[in-house]
Amino acid sequence: MALLGAVEAGGTKFVLALARADGTLVERTRIDTAHPDETLPQMAAFFREAQARLGAIGAFGIASFGPIDIDPASPGYGTFTTTPKPGWSGARFQDALAEFAVPMRVDTDVNGAALGEYLAGAGQGCSTLAYTTVGTGIGTGVVKHGQPVTGFSHYESGHIRPRRDAALDPFEGCCPYHGDCLEGLACGPAIIDRWGHDLSEASPEQVALIAGYIADLAASLVLLHMPDRLVFGGGVMKAPGLMDSLRAQTRAKLGGYIPAYDEDLSTRIVEPGLGDDAGITGAIELARQALSEG
Ligand code: ZN
Repeated sequence: MALLGAVEAGGTKFVLALARADGTLVERTRIDTAHPDETLPQMAAFFREAQARLGAIGAFGIASFGPIDIDPASPGYGTFTTTPKPGWSGARFQDALAEFAVPMRVDTDVNGAALGEYLAGAGQGCSTLAYTTVGTGIGTGVVKHGQPVTGFSHYESGHIRPRRDAALDPFEGCCPYHGDCLEGLACGPAIIDRWGHDLSEASPEQVALIAGYIADLAASLVLLHMPDRLVFGGGVMKAPGLMDSLRAQTRAKLGGYIPAYDEDLSTRIVEPGLGDDAGITGAIELARQALSEG
């Protein structure tokens, strides 16, 4: 039975894994994300060596930082596009792993983590799950019946425009495109720009302000996707009191309109179940899907 090769490609590290066809992990390692001329050959060497020792790899699944082309119908599928990370624009996973000549599925890191949570974490049993990370950036992956949902490209939920009261929050936001979009107001760097400290050291009023912006996204996700559950992870979400305030403000913003979300939301809006393993779990599933689709 062929093995699955999985990659969670992050901005600071790559997690590489081999799994059996049922998803059981066989081996994993991590390498630093450096220049692609260094990191991508290192990645290929790991899989080459592992294949020689453990058996043939039948497919790859990649959950990657971006921006990256994730449209299987596009000639650039699997290629980094306008990433500011030096050297990575134009790098392509299919080229880096061409020697294996096996099917590959490439998706975003957040869609990968969403898939991992759906299968083995806090999204188990859901038909539709929305997984959002609030950290250096903000992004959402929506998984419906086991498949990440996208348009011609991945969603960009971090750039919706929450309502900002300039008297309450004079900070104009740090998004280079929009200023005070959600990411510009509520990502980790925006919080430090505004107050000089991160949200774990913030007052309850400051936590409530950020929770209110994130609640705009949560309410929008409910209205657009009717998910059974919303998972919120990432460094910012670890701030004490944030999750409770997010639940209360999401309920308030929905105003009783969606009965399923007109309760305390402790089982509707939840923390991730897999912690740091969500991404690689999703990448293994992408490989399994690539293998079964041929
Ligand atoms: Zn923006």
